Amino acid sequence: MKVRFWGVRGSIPVPGRSTSRYGGNTSCVEVRPKGGSPIIIDAGTGLRRLGKSLMEEAFGDGKGKTAILISHTHWDHVQGLPFFSPLYRAGNEVHIFARQRDMHLEAVFSQQHDSPYFPVPLSAMHADMQFHELIEGARFDIGNARITCTRLNHPWVAIAYRIDVDGASVTYCADTAPFADILFGREFIVQAPSLDEPLPPDVAAELAQMRAGVVALAKNTDLLIYDTQFTRDEYRLRPHWGHSHPDDAIAIARDANAKRLCLFHHAPMRSDDDNDKILAKYRAVITAQHDRFELLSAYEGLEIALGDE
Ligand SMILES: [Zn+2]
Ligand SMILES: [Zn+2]
Repeated sequence: MKVRFWGVRGSIPVPGRSTSRYGGNTSCVEVRPKGGSPIIIDAGTGLRRLGKSLMEEAFGDGKGKTAILISHTHWDHVQGLPFFSPLYRAGNEVHIFARQRDMHLEAVFSQQHDSPYFPVPLSAMHADMQFHELIEGARFDIGNARITCTRLNHPWVAIAYRIDVDGASVTYCADTAPFADILFGREFIVQAPSLDEPLPPDVAAELAQMRAGVVALAKNTDLLIYDTQFTRDEYRLRPHWGHSHPDDAIAIARDANAKRLCLFHHAPMRSDDDNDKILAKYRAVITAQHDRFELLSAYEGLEIALGDE
């Protein structure tokens, strides 16, 4: 399979000179099994250019088929969908997978097409769109690919996906906070709590269980893509925002025995030079710690071949 990054940014798109090398688009990753239809993870603004590229293939003739796995429905993970060209061509088949909510998934997505926000209603798009609601720990197949998932620690809950195909695997963990200080549910946390107080035992146990689920999902994975929006110091100031940092991602990669760790969901204020420095710093850290995995930092256009291509 080939994994290609189309959007690597968290929160909001940040075009401009200082982000031109890593790219300013929000989360979107394409996984292309050998000879198979593309599987897309997240529909941030990077999805727009991916859609244009797919229109050069069978999607341009209305004969394309794809699945989009949504981690959660925050803007930076769904905002590209109304601009996904294959949806405007009859005959294309687009399957959207996301976690089950109180409101049906189709209603969640159609809301961002409502007239105050966007001129074209979801119902007016010509492709065959199908919505698949996922329950906790769902496992399913897309073509030859096996998909597994687990929940992450993020406001209103996000899910991580693992795709196994062509003798290799990729695991996608965005968005998530470390499993140490706050257990996120559906409530909005206004202020950062003290990180020095011990957690109630039931909360600590639930976080430990969630972390174990993530480590199990990523076990021996060829590529672990992980939310590293923060540095460790930034995390200590804003632990209630629900994002992680490289030290935490490295600990997960080590425990899971991942072969590669890719820093992802870069903070909007992070310049290309900042990202270079973070990567260099943590490459030195993993070398000093004798970690055996390769450390990468995601940028738009990065393509990684895994297993049978
Ligand atoms: Zn995000
Ligand atoms: Zn989010």
